[in-house]
Amino acid sequence: MQITITTGDITRRDTDVIVNAANSSLLGGGGVDGAIHRAAGPKLLAACRELRRTSLPQGLPTGLSVATEAFDLPARWVVHTVGPNAGAGETDPELLRSCFRTALAAAEELGAESISFPAVSAGVYGWDPETVADIGLQELLDHQPGTLQRAEFVLFTDHLAGIFSRRYRELAG
Ligand code: ADP
Repeated sequence: MQITITTGDITRRDTDVIVNAANSSLLGGGGVDGAIHRAAGPKLLAACRELRRTSLPQGLPTGLSVATEAFDLPARWVVHTVGPNAGAGETDPELLRSCFRTALAAAEELGAESISFPAVSAGVYGWDPETVADIGLQELLDHQPGTLQRAEFVLFTDHLAGIFSRRYRELAG
């Protein structure tokens, strides 16, 4: 699987899947979640409400992922993952690792060939971006691809992209 790191707005990516750093309510929020809901249009919120009503009445637990259509976005699907909230004491790296694993598994289940990730938990949820880069990139490097051929991190700032690029060079050797 080819891995790339780029600066940009994930809502503009036309990969098969974009990953949303959602919260467990799945009903929208700030940051990348808000941007994705704004760009996808109201049908995305309706699809999330339907998931809550049918299969996830308690919401989506931290570390798990679920897919919806992407509606007005250029992507085909949104995979919503719930990153751990460091501010609420969720500091176990396994929770963040699980976000990347379950999002990749959801994309494979959809038959996706390409996927874009944001820096899950590196915003309001307060994780150190170096740690997010370390865990996220390691999971991408360890992934045994089925249908997926390309994975990218789409970082909001050049500063963040620099952190991810440096870490990628170290990990990939
Ligand atoms: P979390 O609650 O999981 O920390 P946030 O949305 O607060 O999620 O932040 C996660 C990362 O997403 C941050 O690095 C933030 O700068 C970035 N981000 C915000 N909007 C976008 C966007 N449109 N595209 C890509 N990344 C974004």
